[in-house]
Amino acid sequence: MQKIIDRFISYVKIDTQSNPDSDSTPSTKKQWDLANKLAEELKTIGMEDVSIDENAYVMATLPTNIDRKIPTIGFIAHFDTSPDFSGANINPKIIENYKGGDIVLNEEENIILSPSYFDDLKQYKGQTIITTDGTTLLGADDKAGITEIVTAMEYLIDNPHIHHGPVRIAFTPDEEIGRGAHKFDVKKFGAEWAYTMDGSQVGELEYENFNAAGVKVTVKGKSVHPGYAKGKMINAITIANEFLSMLPKKEMPQFTHHREGFFHFYEFKGNVEHAEINGIIRDHDRDKFDARKELLERMISDLTDRFGSIISIEIKDQYYNMKEKIEPVMHIVDIAEQAMLDLNIEPIIKPIRGGTDGSQLSYMGLPCPNIFAGGHNFHGRYEYVPAESMKKATDVIVKIVELTAKYYNDEA
Ligand SMILES: [Zn+2]
Repeated sequence: MQKIIDRFISYVKIDTQSNPDSDSTPSTKKQWDLANKLAEELKTIGMEDVSIDENAYVMATLPTNIDRKIPTIGFIAHFDTSPDFSGANINPKIIENYKGGDIVLNEEENIILSPSYFDDLKQYKGQTIITTDGTTLLGADDKAGITEIVTAMEYLIDNPHIHHGPVRIAFTPDEEIGRGAHKFDVKKFGAEWAYTMDGSQVGELEYENFNAAGVKVTVKGKSVHPGYAKGKMINAITIANEFLSMLPKKEMPQFTHHREGFFHFYEFKGNVEHAEINGIIRDHDRDKFDARKELLERMISDLTDRFGSIISIEIKDQYYNMKEKIEPVMHIVDIAEQAMLDLNIEPIIKPIRGGTDGSQLSYMGLPCPNIFAGGHNFHGRYEYVPAESMKKATDVIVKIVELTAKYYNDEA
């Protein structure tokens, strides 16, 4: 366990925050610091074909140790941290044998991680909890995932009596800004399927996510002296507002859960001459997703009928539900589920209300469900991870590798 903790801390100490305003890959130069360190470490533990490409994607191979044909499987994690909160000078705290009460993250600023607000903490009584000092995020998202993959590979190298097929691993930049999969070389990776280690609590196993689109509505108004504006002024703000008022009132993030989709408009900028609203559409169901897009188009044509062609809409698909790509190869979920059951971990299978790199990779030809990495409260100062959860995720990786070899033996 100490090894897992030390390894994890060595990663979170390196600032790897990504930046959505940058067009380069990786979006920030500092991500190279961890990418290079990981490539070195993988060589040190004995991984083969360790590579790091011009976009900082790190890949490596654990070669098979049996002479039977077993499919190559992969494990993927991202090394950037969210731009939402500072990831510089992370100073983690380690609480051993957690007693179950409040954890004071920062005495000076009175920042407290409390189980009365963060319910999930209660299940980790007696465990070793790694937290922030209240001034940064922790970066368990997704350095916990990296820790688990590296530790599992090291374990398999040190225990050659565990028979396994070929395993590929990859660490990617820029997941937090939605670009982790963009420059992922699926062909070079060469796995038949893979798992992202990027979920939250122990047991999570996910292969359904939103279908997602971005929406931009633009209104062109006409500014006239307000005292003499009758029949002449077109106020872009009021027309944009009219558009918003036509949206179904209950289909918004604050009123939806489980498999319910929504419209979410998160930005409104405007004056009389020009207004712009930006939003997103989310739905697990592909037909409902398409219907949502059609509804917005209809609203626009409605407004055009009433006010003339001064309003326009741009809808761009962002990613799709990976379920369509996973269901035809459902054994890859079954193996992960069985691995958890064999380890007495109760699988928690539920749809993700978001996307993962795995959803994009699934559409790029690499089916890729998501597995827990153990952390909680991502992207903020209350982020924490129990060391025991990282150990469990590590065990799940080892078990999946083992079961895959077994599964394909029985098949033959
Ligand atoms: Zn993540």
